[in-house]
Amino acid sequence: MRKALLLVVPVAIVAGMAGVANAAPRPVRDNTRPEVIAVNPADNSINVAVNTTITIKFSEPVTNVKVDIMGKKGSPATTERYDASTMTLTVTPNKALNPGIRFTVAVWGAKDTAGNKMRQTAWQFVTAAVTVPTPTPTQTTPAPTVPPVVPTTPPVTPTTPPVTPTTPSGPTPGPTTPTTEPPTTFPTTPPAEPTTPPDPGTVDPPAGSAGIMGASYDDGPDPVNTPRILDWLKAHNLKATFCVLGSQVIKYPAIAKRIVDEGHVICNHSWDHPDFPEISAAAQRKQIVDTQEAIKTATGFRPILFRYPHGDSTAAGDTVIRELGLWGGVLWNWQYSPAGFDGDWVCSETPARIADYATGNIVDQAPILLHDGGDAAACNRPAGFYEDYLTRMETWTKKKGYKWGVLDIAFEPNPNAEGSWVRVIEIAPPEQL
Ligand SMILES: [Zn+2]
Repeated sequence: MRKALLLVVPVAIVAGMAGVANAAPRPVRDNTRPEVIAVNPADNSINVAVNTTITIKFSEPVTNVKVDIMGKKGSPATTERYDASTMTLTVTPNKALNPGIRFTVAVWGAKDTAGNKMRQTAWQFVTAAVTVPTPTPTQTTPAPTVPPVVPTTPPVTPTTPPVTPTTPSGPTPGPTTPTTEPPTTFPTTPPAEPTTPPDPGTVDPPAGSAGIMGASYDDGPDPVNTPRILDWLKAHNLKATFCVLGSQVIKYPAIAKRIVDEGHVICNHSWDHPDFPEISAAAQRKQIVDTQEAIKTATGFRPILFRYPHGDSTAAGDTVIRELGLWGGVLWNWQYSPAGFDGDWVCSETPARIADYATGNIVDQAPILLHDGGDAAACNRPAGFYEDYLTRMETWTKKKGYKWGVLDIAFEPNPNAEGSWVRVIEIAPPEQL
């Protein structure tokens, strides 16, 4: 209706000024679709109260509105009330929403008085985490060292929502137990040989004083490389993100499950790595949906992040991502390459050059792109290869004061991730765990 209003209002004003008030207004045919023009909570809000009421304001009077609020455990029952005078639908959940969960609100079916149908629209918000610890049976809950309040600092992921996965997912970490895992994850074992001897006179800056970066591995799981990388990360008490292919997940479901079980983030990287702009919208949808389901089957969880093959996003893919409540496409930081460096997947590359590339791209909040599968898998790299460059990276980050973290949804573009809406946080977000 917005366009129609723009047409009607000036005509009315002109008519009034010209003193032809008795001229009957010409009927304007309404062929404009109704739209959602305002919502509360706003798109991408965080720390939304669990007893929030959702309001949806339309551009013109509508009938037949359908709305769904979808969270991890499905759609909560709601009571809906449409106020024609304000053209606003108020949706009240019948009980408090689950805390620390991202909800997608989808609206569809609305028609205006002329019968024009609204296009389906959706937006998202995240409810505040509840920080009251829920004791787990096997564990005494140490007194939290963080104040029991919702973080007030900018987009911090909910830390301890007492949400238990509904899926049979084996030994998942206790819901409130980031306490068992120090969020600051520098190894308790001494770091392996630095490539250059540290200056005995210097002291490493505090971990995280320079920021946090996120190592992200693409194209696995690979039966050889991924377990080696996981072993190294475990030994060094560091976390990473694995953007996996559905076609690999069905071959190596136990490795996919290990990724999640060990506190890393798993991310959807399509079924078999096609170039999305080259395939049909239906094929793109299948790539994304089938991979979500393969990961769910293998691990008990569906990812919340999607990375396009080659980073090549499409409008069709974005539509599917949004519908599924996925976030992405997730990009990375690639400002620096050693001379002649095409990527860590090139078989001739050495651990020293890969570490050089990686550390050259480490800045605060930077996802770092690495590969455990795909072309890298065909290189048959010798034992110690991954461990070598990872150790060089760790030595460097320790010396500079960077933490390692995992990728998560962001609520604004990240300049250190090519503008994609992704950030790096210390522990895997609760929606996955
Ligand atoms: Zn890839």
